[in-house]
Amino acid sequence: MKDCLFCKIVAGDVPARKVLEDTRLVAFHDVNPQAPVHVLIVPRKHVASLDDAADGDRELLGHVLIAARDLARELGVGSGYRLVVNCGADAGQSVFHIHFHLLGGRGMGWPPG
Ligand code: AMP
Repeated sequence: MKDCLFCKIVAGDVPARKVLEDTRLVAFHDVNPQAPVHVLIVPRKHVASLDDAADGDRELLGHVLIAARDLARELGVGSGYRLVVNCGADAGQSVFHIHFHLLGGRGMGWPPG
């Protein structure tokens, strides 16, 4: 997508501190971290939000979850972390290319704000 920030990061046209790249996704440090570990896991495919995901994206989204598990371990937070998807503006989504926040390295409150 031409004007999508995360498509530009996926393509390498906007710099990011990448921690993982494979054929289906890219993961990089959030520019405004909310925890000692705060990584965004972003499918290469442009899907605007979870609500826009198709049934055919099932395998892709499962791939993201297993990548999150592996990344949490690699980044040293495997024993406790949170995976967050903000879906829609009302939930705080600000970049409309689906992404998963992997947060760890501090205690987490519940319910989330
Ligand atoms: P959300 O509000 O759920 O859409 O999350 C978007 C996230 O993208 C926020 O946590 C931002 O800090 C982060 N973000 C925005 N621009 C960049 C960027 N250029 N590189 C890395 N993270 C970014």
